[in-house]
Amino acid sequence: MNVAAHLDALQADLVRRNPGEPEFHQATQEVLHALKPVLATRPDLLEARIVERLCEPERQVIFRVPWVDDTGTVQVNRGFRVEFSSALGPYKGGLRFHPSVTSGVVKFLGFEQIFKNALTGLGLGGGKGGSDFDPKGRSDAEVMRFCQSFMTELHRHLGEKTDVPAGDIGVGGREIGYLFGQYKRLTNRFEAGVLTGKGVGWGGSHARTEATGYGVVHFLQEMLATRGLSLEGRGVVVSGSGNVALYAIEKIQALGGKAVACSDSSGYIVDENGLDLDLLKEIKEERRGRLTAYAEARPGAVHSERGSVFDVPCDIALPCATQNELGQQHAVALAKNGVLAVAEGANMPTTPEAVEVLRQADVLFAPGKAANAGGVATSALEMRQNASLQQWSFERTETELASVMRDIHALCRTTADTYGDADDYVLGANAGGFLRTAEAMAAQGV
Ligand code: GLU
Repeated sequence: MNVAAHLDALQADLVRRNPGEPEFHQATQEVLHALKPVLATRPDLLEARIVERLCEPERQVIFRVPWVDDTGTVQVNRGFRVEFSSALGPYKGGLRFHPSVTSGVVKFLGFEQIFKNALTGLGLGGGKGGSDFDPKGRSDAEVMRFCQSFMTELHRHLGEKTDVPAGDIGVGGREIGYLFGQYKRLTNRFEAGVLTGKGVGWGGSHARTEATGYGVVHFLQEMLATRGLSLEGRGVVVSGSGNVALYAIEKIQALGGKAVACSDSSGYIVDENGLDLDLLKEIKEERRGRLTAYAEARPGAVHSERGSVFDVPCDIALPCATQNELGQQHAVALAKNGVLAVAEGANMPTTPEAVEVLRQADVLFAPGKAANAGGVATSALEMRQNASLQQWSFERTETELASVMRDIHALCRTTADTYGDADDYVLGANAGGFLRTAEAMAAQGV
C-alpha cells in the first residue's frame, strides 16, 4: 500500500464527512502528514484502521443551555462535549466559553488533546467541551446561573473515571467553582476528581493555575539548550494576557528573560523596560480589565491597536492567545527580526503556512500539544492528589511538572529522530502521542 496516498485519501474523506469544520480539518491534516513516516513502518496499525478510528470521536454531546440574565430575560446558548478517546484513561480536557466556540472548534481541540494527553504519560484520554456563551461583561450572578444550567445537562456525562473537564479560555477558578457546586448538588457526592482547576482550599492542586505557562517555559528552556542557548537576557513577546500568558511571563522573568510585550482584544502593549507583572495581574486577574489600563498606569509603556504583537522585535515569541493568531506575515516578520524560537502556549495558534516559514528560517518551533501540556499534566497531578486524599506542596508539584515537561521534550526529540529530523518537534509530538494511543487501541481490540 502507498501509505502517503492512503493518508491523503483519508484526509479528503474527513473533510467530506465533517463539513464546515475547518479547524478540525487543519488539525487532522497536520497529524496525518506527520504520521506518514511512522505508518510506513507499521502495517499492523494501518490494518487495524487505527487512524480512521482515532479521527472519529467516541461520543459527542450537543445540548441547550437556557439561563436567565440580570434583566430577567431568558438567554439560550449551545453546549458541547466531545469525548474523543478513552484509550489511555478517562476523557480529559478543558471547557471553553467564548462566542467563537462551534462544534468544529471543540472537535479540533478534543483531537489535539488526545496526543497532548498521551505525551504526558499520565494515563489520560482526550476530550474537550464548551459553549458559545460570552462571559465578558456578564455579572458574577449571570456567570453562576449559566454554569449551573450548563452543568445540569453535562453532569450525566461526567465522572472521575469517565470524563474530567477543566478550564480553558473563559473558564477559570470562578467558573470551575460554580460548575463543581452544581455537580455536587445534583449528585450528592463530593467527587473531587470530577473536575480539575479547583480552588486549593477544596481539592485543587498548588501550581495548577501557573502550570500551563510555566510548562511552556520549561519546554522552551529544554529546546534552547539543544542549541547551547539560554533565556538569560532574551527579549520575549507573548500574545494574550490570560492565565497561560501571565504565568509564562512570570517564569520567563524568573529565569532571567525580559518579556516586553503582550496583547488582548484591545490590542497590544510594548514596555521596553520589561512588563510589570504585578500591574498586569492586578488589571487582568482582579479587575478583569483591558491592557489600555496598563499603558495609562505605566510611564513608557505604549498601547497599540495597529499591527500585531508579533511585529515587535524579539528573540522568542510565545503565542498564548488562541488558534490561528500567528499567520504567515507574522512569521515572516519574526524571522526577519531574527527570532530564535517560537513555543505555542495556546492550542494551534500558528497557521500551517507560518510553521513552514519558521521551519525554512531554522527557527526552533514547539507545537502546543507538546509545549502547553503542563496544564493538563498538572490536572493529572490534581487527580492523583484527589484519589489519595492528599495535597502536595507547591514545590513538589512544580518539581513533578518540570520533570514531565523534560520527559515530553525528550520523547519528542527521540521520536522525531527515529522518523526524520530530531529538530522537527511537530513530527516528534504527533508521532510520540499517536504511538502511545495507537498501541493501547490495538491492544484493546476493535
Ligand atoms: N485546557 C487545557 C488544555 O488545553 C487544560 C485541560 C485540562 O487540564 O484538562 O490542555
